[in-house]
Amino acid sequence: MIGAGILSGLFSAGVLAVITRALHARGAPIAIVAAFFVLVAGKIAASAGSQLLLVRFSQGSILELSLSLCSRILDSPLRLIERRGAAAILTVLTDDVSSVTWAVQCLPQLATNGAVVIGCGAYLAWLSFSMFLSAAGATLLGALVYTVLHRRAIRVIQAARDARASLFEHFRTVTSGTKELLMHRRRRAELVEVEIRGAADAYRTSNLAAVKGYTLAGAWIQTLYHGLIGLLLFVSPLLTHPSVEQLTGYVFALLYMMAPLWDIISAVPALARGEVAFQRIEEIGMTEDLLQQRHAVAGTDCKRPQTGASIEMSGVLFQYETANPAHEFTLGPIDFHIRSGELVFVVGGNGSGKTTFLKLLAGLYVPSAGFIALDGNRITPPTLEWYREHFSVVFADCFVFGKLLGLGLGPASPDLDAATHQYLRLLEIEHKVNVHGGVLTTTDLSQGQRRRLALVTAYLEDRPFYVFDEWAADQDPAYKEVFYTKLLPELRARGKGVIVITHDDRYFHLGDRIMKLADGRVAARSNEDETAGVERAIHSVG
Ligand code: ADP
Repeated sequence: MIGAGILSGLFSAGVLAVITRALHARGAPIAIVAAFFVLVAGKIAASAGSQLLLVRFSQGSILELSLSLCSRILDSPLRLIERRGAAAILTVLTDDVSSVTWAVQCLPQLATNGAVVIGCGAYLAWLSFSMFLSAAGATLLGALVYTVLHRRAIRVIQAARDARASLFEHFRTVTSGTKELLMHRRRRAELVEVEIRGAADAYRTSNLAAVKGYTLAGAWIQTLYHGLIGLLLFVSPLLTHPSVEQLTGYVFALLYMMAPLWDIISAVPALARGEVAFQRIEEIGMTEDLLQQRHAVAGTDCKRPQTGASIEMSGVLFQYETANPAHEFTLGPIDFHIRSGELVFVVGGNGSGKTTFLKLLAGLYVPSAGFIALDGNRITPPTLEWYREHFSVVFADCFVFGKLLGLGLGPASPDLDAATHQYLRLLEIEHKVNVHGGVLTTTDLSQGQRRRLALVTAYLEDRPFYVFDEWAADQDPAYKEVFYTKLLPELRARGKGVIVITHDDRYFHLGDRIMKLADGRVAARSNEDETAGVERAIHSVG
């Protein structure tokens, strides 16, 4: 694509040379006529070829970039994604991808224009070397000053990009907090008039400053260039007495170079934006280390034991890194173990670290000290993904996929629709949701129903360990009873290891063990072999 662009630029410079030649030639020598038509045809063909290649390339690059970014994000550790934040990731996926693509699209045009400028420069040098040197000197001086101005502008472009990201954060508030905003006029007004307007103003100001910088730089280049033409027209005849033919040749070449030179200059802001966007994409992307881990994972044996598995956590420690050390939360050190066919309740007050414990247990967070072992094998970064495949988790803020993704291909589900129907019936939502060809008819459900649907997916996954984060909190009392007295014992009877985060103390006696967390530490545990005394153990610590 760039090659075709360069070719088109060189043909353009050739056309200029032929035109100037023709203007001063007597009649129309056949060689000049032939050269004119060949060069024009070459220029048109090369530029059309470059454009066609460009469209294919740019469409392909948007696709590739979006796909690879999505998979890079999903291959990143959860903490990294949480730290980046959803709004920042969305900005990268939408804005930055298009900025980079736009910058890439400028490249062939840049090559064409660069070739025109170089071709015209060569022509100028052929006409008069001293003229070429003064044009080159002026261009160099222009470029130097332009670089300084550009450096300043790129900082402003970075600020504009960050201001846009914070604007995106507010857009997310608008979509996620619609109900709360509709209920409160003053809150709504403050959000729009103060917060969003402030962010939009910051975006506008930095954008304006960037454009101002580039306009100034452009004006400087134009001044320099026109000054050169002025010198040529008005001063050089007094000094070197060039012929009219020479003079028109110089001016013609300079004027012919001007538009492409200007296009090159105009492309700089787009390239700068692309560069900033590219840096941001790099920042959220994976490091080389993680890429290697991913390849290692692809190579591990993904067979998982269905029963008879055991998990051991030993001295596991985890800390959220926060800007304010006073708000730092540390979980652990925690020792914990579970085998297939066991039902363990994890209890504790709000903020005691239950969900953090769950994320560590399920392999979403990596412990900063201690280890987790599956059947005696310590989990290391290359085996983390394989380890995660042993868990079906229904999170407290579960997301339900409208299509049963990744479930239709396994040998465990020869008829996905039939299996799904069976579980929809078991969870008593078959009157609300149906499934056709692996696609659920709706996911517009109440919170409790949505959790039931998430449980259907968990059943279909059929993994050795089941983890539920306050699953029953939104269920009616009758179905809560079904969950604790029927569904959980059934899972245990099927040889599953089940970990349930809960506040429902009236069902604690149904568990094999209970672990109570308080402020990130184990505050109490029921005795290993004690099933009747588990409630006592918990109540004894309040
Ligand atoms: P629980 O599930 O018991 O209510 P969590 O494990 O969700 O508690 O949270 C425990 C503590 O961890 C919180 O009080 C908070 O300080 C911290 N925490 C939780 N999530 C994050 C996060 N994404 N970033 C930083 N700190 C967090």
